[in-house]
Amino acid sequence: MLNVLNIHKHYDHPAGKVHVLKGIDLLVKSGEVVAIVGPSGAGKSTLLHIMGGLDRPAQGQVQFEEEDLYRLNEKKRGQIRNLKFGFIFQFYHLLPEFTALENVILPAIIDKNANFDAVKTKGILLLDKVGLSKRSEHKPHELSGGEQQRVAIARALINEPKVIFCDEPTGNLDSESGNGVIDLLMDLNKNNKQTLVIVTHDESIAKRSHRVIPMRDGKLEK
Ligand code: ADP
Repeated sequence: MLNVLNIHKHYDHPAGKVHVLKGIDLLVKSGEVVAIVGPSGAGKSTLLHIMGGLDRPAQGQVQFEEEDLYRLNEKKRGQIRNLKFGFIFQFYHLLPEFTALENVILPAIIDKNANFDAVKTKGILLLDKVGLSKRSEHKPHELSGGEQQRVAIARALINEPKVIFCDEPTGNLDSESGNGVIDLLMDLNKNNKQTLVIVTHDESIAKRSHRVIPMRDGKLEK
């Protein structure tokens, strides 16, 4: 469903051009859980952003459901990103002025022009699913790190994405909260067949993935 073909990426740096991705090929099947692991600086986050339609590669293609993401115009690519993809990052990027529930439902209101009451009901259900039904009116600063990450997961799910891209989803959490987040992600995959692409240092995520892909120095080791 997600086919990455010969991706290259460079960054310009005063000390010279840095070749961060050096020809990446990767096929992710529908319903698969893939963990991309490797040392810091290997290019994992850059690859994840490119796969998620967030960052244009210098060369190569990302095909999703027969569409070549970077041949689409920005508007179409934005629609795929918002409606078909979900993103969960190490830092939760919740909006501090809004409640947990408002954070969860905002993407649906912005992207879909959806009916407010229907979206609100769905948001409440999702918060319940991530174990936060009693925290829906809390602002992010009133929640623990693990709770904030669970709000971010509920937000990533509001538009029922086919693929969820996670960048160090447990990186900022203690091991107990981290385990809760991993359980939740694996349940989503099992119950909803959502595809997960996870960049992680976390051995316990890697162990529970269907496929672990080591990455080093801009290349995948397969
Ligand atoms: P990883 O996720 O494996 O730690 P990254 O994809 O974050 O690796 O980064 C790979 C390399 O690209 C690093 O050497 C990093 O310094 C460099 N890099 C990442 N983003 C930028 C940027 N915006 N500008 C310049 N260099 C960058």
